[in-house]
Amino acid sequence: MNFHVLTLFPDMIIQGLHTSVTGKAIDRGHIRLDVVNIRDYSRDKHKHVDDTPYGGGAGMVMQPEPIWLAYEDMTKDMPGRPRLIYVTPQGTTFTQQMAEEFSREEDLIFLCGHYEGVDERILTEIVTDYVSIGDYVLTGGELPAMVMIDAVSRLLPGVLNNEESAEFESFQDHLLEHPHYTRPVEFHGRRVPEVLLSGHHANIETWRRQQSLKRTLERRPDLLEKAPLTSKDLHYLKELGWEPEDL
Ligand code: SAM
Repeated sequence: MNFHVLTLFPDMIIQGLHTSVTGKAIDRGHIRLDVVNIRDYSRDKHKHVDDTPYGGGAGMVMQPEPIWLAYEDMTKDMPGRPRLIYVTPQGTTFTQQMAEEFSREEDLIFLCGHYEGVDERILTEIVTDYVSIGDYVLTGGELPAMVMIDAVSRLLPGVLNNEESAEFESFQDHLLEHPHYTRPVEFHGRRVPEVLLSGHHANIETWRRQQSLKRTLERRPDLLEKAPLTSKDLHYLKELGWEPEDL
């Protein structure tokens, strides 16, 4: 899969994503990262890419032309109109389901804003998705773009090895994952739950499922409404005091 990023701070993206799991995925050719500096497309002799807002007010606004020229150059050899995500606190909140949907694309372009944001006209022209990473405001769109590229990458074939498996994880089926334990068996007086040491696979699976349900009920009860629950799950959750809203 090809990730393309339009940014004013290419080093941030390149250094961040050339590290750890995504870095290996790039080196091994499982993903491709194409980072373009919008400033390189400024026709201004001082390489300005922003200006004051019409109507007055504080801050600067990113101008449409350098973004348009960078976009045109980036997409000139791509078949069709690629999906372009403008990362913005005004977008739909990013979820695991969205990461799965994005992972089915061949090319994904991210536009990172800065300052007060981006001139509305270029957004209207090229953006297909407005996506936020949460209800808070950051200084720029590079971290949100990296968050999304990381979450999408780890769903692609070959990116994770067994030690980093994505087989069952939080948000799959709208449940949080069960807790994990490793050596030693006892740490600061706390023992690993006996069932995990028993070697009894069916009991371990039941325990993990129940821990996942319990944890979701305690920390994110809103997710349970959408989770596909078996009658056993429902029985267990009711024992824990769960009362579904629509019952
Ligand atoms: N004035 C804008 C507003 O109120 O919506 C916020 C601009 S913010 C300071 C600068 C840039 O950071 C945005 O254009 C966007 O690309 C990025 N950004 C900030 N917070 C974000 C978030 N929660 N999710 C995604 N992108 C964000």
